[in-house]
Amino acid sequence: MVSLRCGNLAIEGESSSAVATYLRVKELDLIFDLGRCPMSFIGTGHVFISHFHLDHYFGIPIYVSQRWLNGIPPGEIYVPKEGANQLQDLIERISLLDCGKVWDYQLTPVQAGDAVSFRENLVAHVLPLDHRVPSVGYLVCETRDKLKPEFSGLSGHEIVRLKQDGVLITNQVELPLIAYLGDTRTVPIDSHPLLKQCQVLICECTFLLPEHQERAAQTMHLHLDTLPELLEMFESEHIILTHFSRRYSPEMIRKRIHDVLSPEDRSRVQLLI
Ligand SMILES: [Zn+2]
Ligand SMILES: [Zn+2]
Repeated sequence: MVSLRCGNLAIEGESSSAVATYLRVKELDLIFDLGRCPMSFIGTGHVFISHFHLDHYFGIPIYVSQRWLNGIPPGEIYVPKEGANQLQDLIERISLLDCGKVWDYQLTPVQAGDAVSFRENLVAHVLPLDHRVPSVGYLVCETRDKLKPEFSGLSGHEIVRLKQDGVLITNQVELPLIAYLGDTRTVPIDSHPLLKQCQVLICECTFLLPEHQERAAQTMHLHLDTLPELLEMFESEHIILTHFSRRYSPEMIRKRIHDVLSPEDRSRVQLLI
């Protein structure tokens, strides 16, 4: 399994087109997609699924059953609302087949535009993606209370008194930490005002060679040739490229990325290969 350091966060996992994509950010207690489920991911409490292609959700029954077997309360699994009922049916049938009863589990259907609060200070905004089946991305932000500007000159004592009087002295602000774009042929840059500023961007890049442009369009995936224009719109300090087609060797992937991206972009890009 690969582990890529992005400032305070480490992104662990694997990603290969049509095989499996599963990524964990332990510091945020979350998983993006679960195409397989390594045992080390079982204790992580929040799973965000992008879409129902098998390489992105096949690990869910293992995740659910292993938590159940080990007496760990169900994790929160967020899935696109189209297909949520079928997944529920699938989990229940598999668990009945496995042990004659239904495992405890927690599925939450989501759709683009939703904001899901989790843990104490995190929120996941659900983004619209553009793929062959309904697909969503996630922008995870940290929420913080910030003193309203009109109170910034006050002493600690005065602030305490205002609080005691029930005056609301703070606004909630959001800090965009990480965005995950599962399979998609376009990037919804305007779907959330903070998306461009995310500190870490995880972006698929399935196809690399000029002769595979048509294949990218047909299968609704991103092509490396569109990336320079796309990355220009993101202020992200760290960019992780995922989901490369298995037809490319690691050496070819590195070479194509080197040839197509500018030195500035290369300095912030890491490859999940
Ligand atoms: Zn995929
Ligand atoms: Zn897909």
